Parts: sequence; structure tokens; C-alpha cells
Amino acid sequence: MRYTDRLFRPPAEAGSLIFQVALGCPHNCCRFCAMYKGVPYRVRPLQEVLSEFAAAARRYPAANRIFLADGDVMALPFEQLRVMLEELNRLFPRLARVNLYANGSSINAKSPVELEHLRQLKLSTLYLGLESGDEALLKTLTKGETAEGMCAAVIQAQQAGLKCSVMILLGIGGPAGSASHASATAAVLNRMQPRLLSALRFVDVPGTAMPASYQAVTEYEAVDELLRILRGLSLEKTVFRANHTSNPLPLEGRLPKDRDALIVTVEALLPGLDRRGPGRLPFML
Ligand code: SF4
Repeated sequence: MRYTDRLFRPPAEAGSLIFQVALGCPHNCCRFCAMYKGVPYRVRPLQEVLSEFAAAARRYPAANRIFLADGDVMALPFEQLRVMLEELNRLFPRLARVNLYANGSSINAKSPVELEHLRQLKLSTLYLGLESGDEALLKTLTKGETAEGMCAAVIQAQQAGLKCSVMILLGIGGPAGSASHASATAAVLNRMQPRLLSALRFVDVPGTAMPASYQAVTEYEAVDELLRILRGLSLEKTVFRANHTSNPLPLEGRLPKDRDALIVTVEALLPGLDRRGPGRLPFML
């Protein structure tokens, strides 16, 4: 497979065949994100991508899971997505699902009929970064999306039968913004009812452009924030994960069944965490 620059994919896509159908991110302005900084956004020519699909099908004919990269592939026009998915269905007889990153506005730009059509072509999980439910914080972070819009997008996508895997960022509001970040995020998630939810701790890596006023939370504060979010959640059918390497405590469960047990676990481990610094930081993000 031909990859340009660094390739990012969700942890759950480790076993997927990955095609870079576009390079970079069409928004590329989120202050907390360094993923595609310095990568000019470019959609690869359709014929070039289709030839790559055909070559990969000769090499990996049994592939059944495919991930389309880079950022916000849902921003591609419906027709382009349709042609790519039809070709993947034709070339890979065992294809079960195709997943990609999606921003709220890109989902909202598709009609319910288009979303349903893409789902029928085995588009399956849309990875969406909510980051926070706090509208003012999203603005400060130049997310380019509103929580309201992302909420509507997840509801619309899931009504069309797609699954949304929503990511939130612990500590992104700093100590001062933690209370409103936690309560607004839980409230938006309750309205969205995402099928999958991942909590990652924000770590200010080189390449981000966080406001000068931003202060990192301690390890204790990050997990305490997660605890407040968990307490505020009333999700009806969600797989929850906070087991990304950035998380001080690896957690996983099904909500609502495991919610109380997760809260008890976090309450028990919280007192042992670092109250003065970030604690153990991941070697790699
Ligand atoms: S967080 Fe997502 S939308 Fe924002 S710049 Fe990074 S890849 Fe693009």
C-alpha cells in the first residue's frame, strides 16, 4: 500500500486494510490537534484510488475490514464515496465494513437518503471527535463545529443505521474549564446516544496551538473529570472505552450495565493518582 506522510487510524482499525483516499484534514485548524499540521489537504484522483483498490484486492483478496484515511473522509462528495464503496464491494467479496473519520458538518451535508445508501454499501462506523459538549470551549479551540451540530449529525447517522464512535478529550478545558466541560459533555452525549464512546486524555504535544492561557490538568484532575462525566451519563446502549495509552486508568465497559461498577473503580483508584503533575505520560500518542 502506498502511504504519504504519517498515517493515523483509530486503535480499533489495527487489523483493517487502510487506503489513504485523501491526504490531511480539510479543516486542519483545531488548536489541540497536531495530526496533519504541515500536510496540505488534497483529495487523491478517483482513478488513482480505484487502481490502488484493484492492486490491493489482488494481494489481499480476503480482506473484510477497510478503513479510509485521512481526516474527515466523510467530507468527500456523496458520488465519490458511492463509487469508492461500490468498487470495494465488487473487489473484496468478503467485505464486512468500511469505516472512516467524519466531522459533524460533513455528516450533516449528506441527506438521510444518501447516508442510508452509503450504509447499504457497507459504510459502518464513523469516528467523530466531539472533544467537548461545551460550545464556548469548542469555539476557543477553533474546532469549526458546534456541539449542537455534532449532536444532530450523530443522531442522523445512527438513524440511517451507521454507528458513531464519539471521542471526548479529558482535560481539554484545563482546571478552570473542567466543571463546564464535564457537565456539558455528559449532557450532549446523553442526547447523542453514541453506540461507541472513547475518552482520551488531552496531552499538549508539539505542533498543537493551544491558547496561552491553557493550563494542563493533573493526572488526578483528568480522572476526576472522567468520574464527573460518568456520573452524568445516562446512555442506553453504548460501548465505553478509556483505554487509550493517554488514559491514566485503563477502563472499558458497556453502558448502562457497567456504569456503576466503573464509577466505583474510579472512586477507589482516584486517591492514589498524582495531584501535582500529569503522572505517567504515554511514550507515544
Ligand atoms: S481534530 Fe480532526 S478535524 Fe480537527 S484538525 Fe485534527 S483531524 Fe482535523
